[in-house]
Amino acid sequence: MGIIEKMRLDGKKIFVTGGARGIGKSVATAFAEAGADIAIVDVDIEEARKTAQELKDQHGISTMAIQTDVTNPEQVNAMIDQVVAGFGRLDVAFCNAGICMNIPAEEMTYEQWKKVIDINLTGVFLTAQAAGKIMIQQGGGSIINTASMSAHIVNVPQPQCSYNASKAGVIQLTKSLAIEWAGKNVRVNSISPGYIGTELTLNSPSLKPLIEKWNEMAPLGRMGRPEELQSICVYLAGDTSTFTTGSDFLVDGAFTCF
Ligand code: NAD
Repeated sequence: MGIIEKMRLDGKKIFVTGGARGIGKSVATAFAEAGADIAIVDVDIEEARKTAQELKDQHGISTMAIQTDVTNPEQVNAMIDQVVAGFGRLDVAFCNAGICMNIPAEEMTYEQWKKVIDINLTGVFLTAQAAGKIMIQQGGGSIINTASMSAHIVNVPQPQCSYNASKAGVIQLTKSLAIEWAGKNVRVNSISPGYIGTELTLNSPSLKPLIEKWNEMAPLGRMGRPEELQSICVYLAGDTSTFTTGSDFLVDGAFTCF
């Protein structure tokens, strides 16, 4: 079998948190093109249903849409039960849901701090933990977490200390789980995207005005597109990455190189 054939995901069962739109939707589309069945998991159930239907119509795979707040352990566990009941197993978890808040540290309330940490870090822990339990029972699986280049650098000029701290936490959580589950054939990796054009950036009132500035700072002179994160995730989800665990993959157009 050639390498491209080996990279296909036919029959794999995958859930994607924050899968309704943006990076999650784009990566879910790539998983679907590669032949996997997909559960779109999101707080926004209307958009999740639309995405799940689109993937089913375009790629002839099985899909489901599940409303889940990743900060809520009961909802996360119920989501995993639904995926396993519907698909029969779970091969890949893409723990990707996240938000950003741009607030100066000295003005940030406890609630604002907690909201970002709860979604971006605790949410990844809860979904990865629930997925890991199933994968350990099954004898293996692959978990991909979305960190950010903000785990590696401090973005400027916008103040976003909670986001940066949450994403740095995602990388160290990823490495910790990779070590704990290395002997159980459960691989855990993260991706660290640079600025990517999605609702989070293009339509955020605080971030949109900064795009020109970021592009001036960017070695490639532009933001990334969600589809530029697809192939790394297909690789991590599939069977050609069996020696890849505990790694973080920067996909940032060299933004963090200087
Ligand atoms: P987005 O806002 O377009 O999509 C995020 C999705 O997550 C939405 O569908 C939203 O409904 C869902 N979501 C939010 N809170 C949730 C919760 N509590 N439970 C379940 N779902 C929830 O954002 P995006 O740009 O696609 O970002 C996806 C991930 O990529 C995030 O973790 C983000 O931090 C990360 N990231 C984005 C960029 C970028 O420049 N866009 C760069 C680096 C990392």
